[in-house]
Amino acid sequence: MIYLDAAATTVVRREVLEAMWPYLTGEFGNPSSHHAVGHVAAEALKQARATVAECLGCRASEIIFTAGGTEADNLAIKGIALANPRGRHIVTTAIEHKAVIESCEYLKRVHGFQVTYLPVDRNGIVDVAQAAVALREDTTLCSVMLANNEVGTIQPVPEIAAAAHAKGVPMHTDAVQAAGALELNVKTLGVDALSLSGHKVGAPKGTGILYLKGRVQVEPVLHGGGQEKGRRSGTENVAGAVGIALALRLAEQGRAERMEHIAGLRDALIHGVLAAVPTAVLTGHPEHRLPGSASFCFPGTSGEAVLLYLEEHGIVCSSGSACAAGSDEPSHVLMAMGFPREVAQTAVRFTLSDGVSEEQIAEVVGAVRDGVRTVMGIGGK
Ligand code: PLP
Repeated sequence: MIYLDAAATTVVRREVLEAMWPYLTGEFGNPSSHHAVGHVAAEALKQARATVAECLGCRASEIIFTAGGTEADNLAIKGIALANPRGRHIVTTAIEHKAVIESCEYLKRVHGFQVTYLPVDRNGIVDVAQAAVALREDTTLCSVMLANNEVGTIQPVPEIAAAAHAKGVPMHTDAVQAAGALELNVKTLGVDALSLSGHKVGAPKGTGILYLKGRVQVEPVLHGGGQEKGRRSGTENVAGAVGIALALRLAEQGRAERMEHIAGLRDALIHGVLAAVPTAVLTGHPEHRLPGSASFCFPGTSGEAVLLYLEEHGIVCSSGSACAAGSDEPSHVLMAMGFPREVAQTAVRFTLSDGVSEEQIAEVVGAVRDGVRTVMGIGGK
């Protein structure tokens, strides 16, 4: 099998599993317990927090462990917006992950917020000047993803953060897809909050992180025993925290060289597919995109049919977001980028991770060419 769906999830790295193992077995303590068994767990949690803080360039006290990227986004959006006394307005984009969009819609529905969804251009990029105009006196939060999960486009987050700060608005970024691919230093990015998910970088599913800048107030989403300094109650997933911290550190090691290699393979895939399928359209920005992301539309086909053909030939990829898989609705991301519905329904996304070879890329290009031809031959318009 050739697995080109790293944006959906990745395998847990062996080193990560091994580092977690003790905290699932012998060292099984609850970090809140006031005895030696608990202290061992508390120490592991402290170490994990310090490791994450080092990777993000922040203080350990600014790291909140969550049960995934979705929870981190929910806590950032609902938590910051509700705690900020400036008003009831949020600025975000039309191409965010549903974890962000649905959190905003919740605030609209239940708390009477107004939400401005910034448009994007054909390449999926937000216009900084447009973002600046959308920020108001009563804006409580600006949230713009660092890299898109469907088309890989990278947003000008530092510039938008500067525009938000000029108006006194805190800035959140969903960096779930950027982890392990792009620089995640929160000071360089200029953000006040940043979400991460473990299972995109070789840690288990159900692990996540929210970076929250020291002075930013947050209304908790989960209430209970007051763990994570009252910002996220619930007995800490010690093994999960150890796992995501190590996965993040490993993903940072030699990142530039690894990503250069992956970007080379991605470019070979993009050029190969565009040459082999003259009707193919590359979606997302041609340059400002994640090193491992190659996404296309194949007008005149059905994306699902192409996926099926590829899977029958041992290639696993996706139509866009794994979360939207199975729904007939075309991607909200491609629609926001201005693709007609019938073209958006032909989307196929390849996301590469370490271990993919040149030979495999050549095989994928051949299979895409044959798959598109076959699908067009059977059901082509
Ligand atoms: N944000 C983005 C951009 C994502 O791609 C995903 C997952 O695909 C999430 C948030 C949600 O993360 P999780 O699967 O850990 O809940």
